[in-house]
Amino acid sequence: MAKEKKLVEAITSMEEDFAQWYTDVVKKAELVDYSSVKGCMIIKPAGYAIWENIQKELDKRFKETGVENVYMPIFIPESLLEQEKDHVEGFAPEVAWVTHGGLNELQERLCVRPTSETLFCDFYKNLIQSYRDLPKVYNQWCSVVRWEKETRPFLRTREFLWQEGHTVHATAEDAEARTVQMLNLYANFCEEVLAIPVVRGQKTEKEKFAGAEATYTIEALMHDGKALQSGTSHNFGDGFAKAFGIQYTDKDNKLHYAYQTSWGMTTRIIGALIMVHGDDSGLVLPPRIAPVQAMVIPIQQKKDGVLDKANEVVSRLSNVCRIKIDDSDKTPGWKFSEQEMRGIPVRIELGPKDIENNKCVVVRRDTREKIEVSLDDIETKVPEILEAIQKDMFERAKAHRDSHIWDAHNYEEFKDVAENKPGFIRAMWCGDEACENKIKEDLSVTSRCMPFEDQERISEVCACCGKPAHKLVYWGKAY
Ligand code: AMP
Ligand code: ZN
Repeated sequence: MAKEKKLVEAITSMEEDFAQWYTDVVKKAELVDYSSVKGCMIIKPAGYAIWENIQKELDKRFKETGVENVYMPIFIPESLLEQEKDHVEGFAPEVAWVTHGGLNELQERLCVRPTSETLFCDFYKNLIQSYRDLPKVYNQWCSVVRWEKETRPFLRTREFLWQEGHTVHATAEDAEARTVQMLNLYANFCEEVLAIPVVRGQKTEKEKFAGAEATYTIEALMHDGKALQSGTSHNFGDGFAKAFGIQYTDKDNKLHYAYQTSWGMTTRIIGALIMVHGDDSGLVLPPRIAPVQAMVIPIQQKKDGVLDKANEVVSRLSNVCRIKIDDSDKTPGWKFSEQEMRGIPVRIELGPKDIENNKCVVVRRDTREKIEVSLDDIETKVPEILEAIQKDMFERAKAHRDSHIWDAHNYEEFKDVAENKPGFIRAMWCGDEACENKIKEDLSVTSRCMPFEDQERISEVCACCGKPAHKLVYWGKAY
């Protein structure tokens, strides 16, 4: 018993110290390990399997919209990176450089890609000649490097895994449509698969991507009331095309600059999964993304027939869900704690008594509800329970999010909310960057987005400076 307890006791409670709870979960659920390079993580099998499922699901959805995958080099020559002014300024502070090849100093430094706009542009300028070459809707799955100062596993690492889509279009309208389409794809993926409700919106000038005309974002709210930017989609207009000379001839033989977009989602989203759904027993994974959806845990497994029956359950259920059995020689209590820590959506307990009564006990990870299921019905009941978990997890996360949105009509209210009420702050903004800067400096709160869906005017004046304001902005402390 002492040992059984240890596994659970080893994690700090969320209420006591949320940051420590997070660190404990990523370690104890065996998602990552720290590596010898600060800010770079070793993603262990349990963590990588989640990423693989994210990739599979996103990739499928991308391809349904016509996306094709490519692969670009990891290095960007300095001269290429410098070709778009805003872009290089934005990324310069966090770029890692390769200066030597073997023993020789390179004539031109190479940067390790922090993102690959410049590489794609260099490629597209030769590839695209005529309107017949458009659109190009390419994506790559890779890792990028950004020399971050503060790092946290998944949330902000110096090397992270992601996909980056880079598209080229004939018209500004087509580029805008693709930018919105991908943002919606990310939002639907988060809500339908990860059970994470998101706010879709546009970033302010201050927060937009270096070199973009417009940046759209999905923002999620974590359990502690902090926001997480969970995916971004950028419309570049023809800015990069002009900097790189990407032109095409139209049907009338006239030369035009092309319009571009880019969009990315990273391993950060695993951090969101942890911080939206987790609890004091560890990870809680939504069934649609969980690498293992059900764990069969035999009780008194040494008794005659128990393991046979448990294996039969596994084999029958393997047609309808991702299932495993824990037939190790650990105690059932220990196995329960492990299954809970790893966030496996259900466990199926099966002992001699259950077998006698032709039933098993399905225990939900999210609510801990115990459901007796006849062994005759497992193929229909277990998937039903998994679907119910998926739906309930989304509803719970949404209720939490919705109950942590606060309105601020003036600076006093803004300050009060920022200091006392974790969550999103809804406030009107005049459009002046000075107000954004003041709010950030005074209150450590940043503008998250100007939401698409929520267009309410909660007042006529900026909550910071009192000047006339037309834009509603969601603000928040962010990861
Ligand atoms: P960006 O290319 O700057 O638009 O970033 C694309 C996505 O990567 C955004 O959703 C960011 O939230 C995420 N992201 C940015 N920096 C990091 C990092 N250091 N680690 C993990 N994810 C990141
Ligand atoms: Zn203002």
